[in-house]
Amino acid sequence: MRIVVQKYGGTSVGSVEKIKSVAKRIVDRKKSGDDIIVVVSAMQHTTDELIALAKKINPNPPERELDMLLTAGERVAMTLLAMAIWKEGVEAISLTGSQSGIITEDNHTRARIVEIRPARIMEELAKGRIVIVAGFQGVSGKKEVTTLGRGGSDTTAVALAASLGATICEIYTDVPGVFSSDPAIVPDAHKLEKISYDEMLEFAYFGATVIHPRAVEIARRYKIPLLIALSDEDEKGTIIKEDNRMEEIEIKGITKKEILLIRFPFEHPEEFENIFNEIVKLRIPIDFFSIEENVDKRIANFVVDRSEKVSVASIPNIVVFDDFSVIGIIGYGIAGRADLVLEVIMKLRAIGIEPLLFSQRHTSIAFLVPSSVADDIVRILSRDFITKRKKYGKI
Ligand code: ASP
Ligand code: MG
Repeated sequence: MRIVVQKYGGTSVGSVEKIKSVAKRIVDRKKSGDDIIVVVSAMQHTTDELIALAKKINPNPPERELDMLLTAGERVAMTLLAMAIWKEGVEAISLTGSQSGIITEDNHTRARIVEIRPARIMEELAKGRIVIVAGFQGVSGKKEVTTLGRGGSDTTAVALAASLGATICEIYTDVPGVFSSDPAIVPDAHKLEKISYDEMLEFAYFGATVIHPRAVEIARRYKIPLLIALSDEDEKGTIIKEDNRMEEIEIKGITKKEILLIRFPFEHPEEFENIFNEIVKLRIPIDFFSIEENVDKRIANFVVDRSEKVSVASIPNIVVFDDFSVIGIIGYGIAGRADLVLEVIMKLRAIGIEPLLFSQRHTSIAFLVPSSVADDIVRILSRDFITKRKKYGKI
């Protein structure tokens, strides 16, 4: 029998009506013969509200207690969904991360999954039940309840799919798939029918919020096909799987992400180490790391997500710029292409913009621009690299 993991995001279970309609879809799918594990997020806004509540009591809540509190959000959603499925005449059981055997590291609020022991899930599946698992949480070796960081339910779903050897992991959300650019910025952006893991990782890193990059990373490692689709319609979504085209070059997307550019000057290696250690302690992902040589000193540069503003505010001796965005140009075969870098620079210079800090990777070129012009740049590059080239052929 096929094992299918489905994940429903916060908006998809955001109201009583939505929970009921998701339950019906799950039951229909179960009747088609698949074994189904459903991962749920907390109902829309719940996690934000719980955080706000905690901060009213204590602006700096102990992380252990915060984790205990936040996991309650997913418990609410999972139990209501289980009740809705029973109402449809099918047996379901909801399980916390801990009951599902999701073992994590010790550190609260950003724990990584160490292993999954899915014995209980398998037992329940064997009874013919639909198993509902609370997203974004696990239990540490010390038996403490942990969370995986914001957006962590995607990670729960893909990690479960990997450990159960699922045929597919389906991520149901409020957008119909992955788009070449954000349709709110580029109205004629198109939905991608299929895309490789590598490309999806870059989309997720550089601004597409449909799925968390950590989840894509796991899917790539274990070769679990992913589907991203609407939770309330039957429209075909985007499939993410391995790519088997030879050396075709095609730009798939232009993305934008709001970031913080962090810079700090240093003269001695110890100075660098001291400041950088503060960043390491925060455990936040960094990108675009580089060191510039100046006449008498060096300057370290890197970027972090804009949402980390409060965390980085505690680090002394750094300069934080909050008015830059990253633009990503994504697609296979664009690595190493000097001509593309030149083309981008010339296009931006033509409108008076000097892009900063280029990074070239396997399937992307990315750089920084002032946030005030980022949307315009996404539109220009999307028109020139995607819309026109679709008409006139590949690069
Ligand atoms: N409820 C958690 C959050 O809002 C986890 C998730 O939705 O993936 O971040
Ligand atoms: Mg999410």
